[in-house]
Amino acid sequence: MAEITLSDVGKIYPGGTRAVGDVNLGIEDGEFLVLVGPSGCGKSTVLRMIAGLEEISEGTIAIGDQVVNDVQPKDRDIAMVFQNYALYPHMSVFDNLAFGLKLRKMAKDDIKARVEEAAGILEITEFLDRKPKALSGGQRQRVAMGRAIVREPKAFLMDEPLSNLDAKLRVQMRTELGRIHTRLATTTVYVTHDQVEAMTLGTRVAVLKPVSEASPDNLQQVAPPAELFHEPVNLFVAGFIGSPAMNMVYGTLEGSNGNVYANFAGKRIHIAQRALDRHPGIENHLGKELVVGIRPGDFEEAGVAHGDPEEVIEANVDVAEVLGSETFVHYELGERPVITPDIAALLADTGADASTLGDTTKFASRVSSDVRVSPGDRVKLQIDSSKLHFFDPADGYRVGASPA
Ligand code: ADP
Repeated sequence: MAEITLSDVGKIYPGGTRAVGDVNLGIEDGEFLVLVGPSGCGKSTVLRMIAGLEEISEGTIAIGDQVVNDVQPKDRDIAMVFQNYALYPHMSVFDNLAFGLKLRKMAKDDIKARVEEAAGILEITEFLDRKPKALSGGQRQRVAMGRAIVREPKAFLMDEPLSNLDAKLRVQMRTELGRIHTRLATTTVYVTHDQVEAMTLGTRVAVLKPVSEASPDNLQQVAPPAELFHEPVNLFVAGFIGSPAMNMVYGTLEGSNGNVYANFAGKRIHIAQRALDRHPGIENHLGKELVVGIRPGDFEEAGVAHGDPEEVIEANVDVAEVLGSETFVHYELGERPVITPDIAALLADTGADASTLGDTTKFASRVSSDVRVSPGDRVKLQIDSSKLHFFDPADGYRVGASPA
């Protein structure tokens, strides 16, 4: 087992496309580190550079205390698990697991012991004599995992390993992967575009953004899942983590008699001390425009507003998505969309549509399924000012945080 250290890592593909810039990341021994971000943000490229499948254009990558820039993939002592778990169709599960060990000329008894142990961990012992075609998708994925486990590598590198499975199996295998990691505690780097996978599996999660001319670095924030959710470092992370996405609206801050008020969506809301404490230096933003963020789950129940009417936003229900345990309610607020300069540059560079970053002209709330709402209903959204987030529109960073 080993830690993995990326220092000033960058990748420019032949032809000049910059895919990765300025990545500094220390993955601890035994950690499960997830790389997450939208398509094209460079996740796979980072993983493939760690694996040795792509040349490292800039910086260094070390596995343990060895810089591996010039080390062949097979000599890096890592095991990759891909979404396409190409098993050898003519070999039994046992032989699929044993194949890599045989190539390394390991003694037969040792091979048998390792294969049986891995099969036990993955609960595939009863399938060891079967051929891959006689297995379900989930069982095949376990065999692919088994091939990585038997090698007892320093680290596992996984590139969207669950994306070929159907939704139910994906959730099951996700739990399973968490269990396996708890048991083996092997350093793991895991790539996904699925924020739920990222949040549930990661010891820490690294959020990446595609590089653009205005911001040639990918890495936005590396933090434990709860911290990403509660203290997103900028609007990109705030919009990417959480479903529905964080509501964002322009507002201004105002100080009066030692109190701080935020004016947004036609309201003037007294800001609780707890929210001020989470944004050090917020007093420097008095009188200026900023972006106010509210998580859809942080409103009090729709329709039961009871506090200061000044803290209630009224909105018309546009769409109600009933999920069973809860309902996502979407509203039209008619506010100006929040597009900060870095996001505008990203959209211009990549040609992406602003809606891919969450439609910031709309508001959403999450309410319990006991609350019945229908399109067209007028609903009161009671704001809990202690839960508000504030961002500086000049650079998109959270007030009190600074660009890495
Ligand atoms: P992700 O895994 O986050 O979807 P990738 O690492 O696959 O992102 O790609 C990052 C960027 O690099 C994208 O803009 C992609 O088009 C580009 N890219 C990936 N592979 C190559 C390649 N072999 N040659 C040129 N550009 C590439």
